[in-house]
Amino acid sequence: MSNKFVYLFEEGNASMKALLGGKGANLAEMTNIGLPVPPGFTISTDACRAYYENNKSITPEIIDQITKDFKSIEEKTNKKFGDKVNPLLVSVRSGAMFSMPGMMDTILNLGLNDETVIAIGEKTDNMRFAYDSYRRFIQMFSDVVLEIPKFRFENVLDKYKEKFGYENDTQLTVDDLKDIVKDFKAIVKKESGRDFPQVPNEQLMEAVNAVFRSWNNARAIAYRNLYDIPHNLGTAVNVQSMVFGNMGDDSGTGVAFTRNPATGEKKLYGEFLMNAQGEDVVAGIRTPKSIEELQDIMPEVFEQFSVITNNLENHYKDMQDIEFTIEQGKLYILQTRNGKRTINASLRVAVEMVEEGLLTQDEAILRIDPKQLDQLLHPTFDGETMKMAVPIATGLPASPGAATGKVYFTAEDAVKAASTGEKVVLVRKETSPEDIEGMNVAQGILTSRGGMTSHAAVVARGMGKCCVAGCEMVKVDEDSKIFAVGDIKINEGDFISLDGSTGKVYPGSIKTVEPTLSGDFAKLMSWADDRRILGVRTNADTPRDAETSLSFGAEGIGLCRTEHMFFDEERIPVVREMILSETLTKRNKALNKLLPMQKKDFKGLFKVMKGFPVTIRLLDPPLHEFLPTDEKDIIALAEEMEMNVSELKEVINSLHEFNPMLGHRGCRLAVTYPEIAQMQTRAIIEAALEVEDEEKTTIIPEIMIPLVGIKSELDYVKEIVVQTAEKIMEEKGKRTDYLVGTMIEVPRAALTADEIASNADFFSFGTNDLTQMTFGFSRDDAGKFISEYREKEVLTDDPFQSIDVDGVGKLVEMAVKLGKSVKPNMKMGVCGEHGGDPKSVEFFNKVGLQYVSCSPYRVPIARLSAAQAVLKNNGTPGSDQR
Ligand code: PEP
Ligand code: MG
Repeated sequence: MSNKFVYLFEEGNASMKALLGGKGANLAEMTNIGLPVPPGFTISTDACRAYYENNKSITPEIIDQITKDFKSIEEKTNKKFGDKVNPLLVSVRSGAMFSMPGMMDTILNLGLNDETVIAIGEKTDNMRFAYDSYRRFIQMFSDVVLEIPKFRFENVLDKYKEKFGYENDTQLTVDDLKDIVKDFKAIVKKESGRDFPQVPNEQLMEAVNAVFRSWNNARAIAYRNLYDIPHNLGTAVNVQSMVFGNMGDDSGTGVAFTRNPATGEKKLYGEFLMNAQGEDVVAGIRTPKSIEELQDIMPEVFEQFSVITNNLENHYKDMQDIEFTIEQGKLYILQTRNGKRTINASLRVAVEMVEEGLLTQDEAILRIDPKQLDQLLHPTFDGETMKMAVPIATGLPASPGAATGKVYFTAEDAVKAASTGEKVVLVRKETSPEDIEGMNVAQGILTSRGGMTSHAAVVARGMGKCCVAGCEMVKVDEDSKIFAVGDIKINEGDFISLDGSTGKVYPGSIKTVEPTLSGDFAKLMSWADDRRILGVRTNADTPRDAETSLSFGAEGIGLCRTEHMFFDEERIPVVREMILSETLTKRNKALNKLLPMQKKDFKGLFKVMKGFPVTIRLLDPPLHEFLPTDEKDIIALAEEMEMNVSELKEVINSLHEFNPMLGHRGCRLAVTYPEIAQMQTRAIIEAALEVEDEEKTTIIPEIMIPLVGIKSELDYVKEIVVQTAEKIMEEKGKRTDYLVGTMIEVPRAALTADEIASNADFFSFGTNDLTQMTFGFSRDDAGKFISEYREKEVLTDDPFQSIDVDGVGKLVEMAVKLGKSVKPNMKMGVCGEHGGDPKSVEFFNKVGLQYVSCSPYRVPIARLSAAQAVLKNNGTPGSDQR
């Protein structure tokens, strides 16, 4: 840590995000490229860490540096802090390395007190404005620094408005505002036991302190957990001289995107309000005007703004989200950052920027967050059902997609309902950071207030969630848990449907359909495919899933979990009969009933996959999952098996396991019941032979043996598979090639991968079980404590989602090396959940796997991640063949 903690905007640049936060680095960059930025300085994230190390207080060294740079702002603006004639007012804002919208706190108009308020009023010849700013400042300062609930102040405002019959805050007169200020100060005294601070310097230090403190408020922690942002980064604080958008009709403030953040269209997009401060635009109290209207109101300012926004986009080579203020006809740029956008907009912007020559294809590939592709694959409403649907209200189309669910009015209720498996829609007047978790579990979000840049809109877009915002026709009563549109009343628990692309709200539930993918998506994915080394397969157990995954670009099936085929309603009695049979004859009888069903499954998969590789895994569930628990089922089964009920119950009890995940599953089943492996091998080989004939394609089934930990387990089961396959081919007088490989998902298998490789045609890493057994965390139970581990920073990531590179990853890397030491060209892939996780894909690319296999909907994510892995690592080893 250097001993410089405070940086004037002139001293920073865009590359200093870790030290100055995103906002601070951008303010510095903008200042240095000559934009009209109000002067200021940034207190660094180092200072925030020093604050925490120093028992949550700002060190004297940092205070000195702040004081020194403050003087510099005073000189530049020719104003003085606390001056009775020409006072300087500043804003104090947090700004972490990663943008955390709404998570941290902002204070405007700092420096106002009983004296400076009069000076500002006189100087601007607008006493109303001065007192309005003062009451806003007391409100914000009290909320953020003194932690007095906002509603205490809002109640006072409402009281005045009611008393005088005003509809808007703008109708409050100077005298009203003076009285309000008095009332506000009385609240401060009552709630905090002290007078509202009048010395600007004290106000400043308390505010900086509060921003540092707010880094660790509950909302900020929840947001960081949600977006995987480390907790030890700290926030910077930006102190900047204020400019005013509420100085009369030649002043205003707004937010604009250089391109449309919903569609990506290249056209200035945004909102502004004349005679207002920034918070009015986002709070949704007044309805903002579209940015184009600025052209009519202030043509010169609009022209200057268009030139600046264009320059900013060219400078940052990305779509910008810009905050601006016009103070008495003069334009100021307050902030710019890369704009949050829908995935469709991301793709369109990236592809068009390549066409415009602003980006290279490689840069465009790296621009897209693979996880965001998920949003593309979200459903829309079924066209036919929609014809019948009549909307009850229309709001702003804030974030696209379709959502159907039961209405809940608080984040807490939404979370509770969602935890029971219900699909929920969160309905609120407006959302705030406290609602994050409710928004996260909801299918969609509906708010009655707020614009396209409101909290609900921005956050929902980031989450890829359908959102209809600012739907003023909807009257929300959060206390009574009801909303009304005219005479129509919707209660908690009623179904509604939202169309985030049109802003329409429908009563009841509407069927949804899968999305179609845009030309921009196809173009970007084709660039990605050209660059990636890893193959991308899918985990699919049905022809339907296989078909979906092919449409998303899968190049094979990396895992067909045959036990999923056994859970079919029609089959489960036969499967139970097989498991509970006490003699081989009885078991074979059940297996013979299953054989044609399995063969049909495999034929279906082979046909859909048209010669792409298909890996079929032999049965691998804990047996108890199939056992009947329902009395009715047990009686019926006893009859079918010609046993009496108590006898059958005894057999069921004998199969009980204390630790089923570590119990009688995987190859252990095949060792005890070889006839199950024989039946499955027969089904696979017969299916392959028949499809080869019928479709005139070559099928090379890959038969995979699960949960091997000892080479002799593999030897034993492989022998059964090979003998069965050879016998069938002899019977049929036809041959097909086939491979017999194993999963590497038990740590012992990874440690002895060289021995195991000597008798395996391929390896597929089962990183779900490998993670479970390496950590000793039960995959079914770990969810309960992993979130707390992450909150307390015992773990940074959930190892079941993103591969634990240092531990589980080390085993994978070791197994790859050991395996290749015996068979240099051995085919190796991964089929655990990690196969669709971008960070993990990067790791699998690095250790030289040939393919990843993931659920169908994550195939595009894996394709893009695989390309990014190559670009980030300059085309690392990876494998030489796909
Ligand atoms: C694994 O363990 O990673 C795997 C793919 O198998 P399953 O999830 O079926 O146990
Ligand atoms: Mg497994």
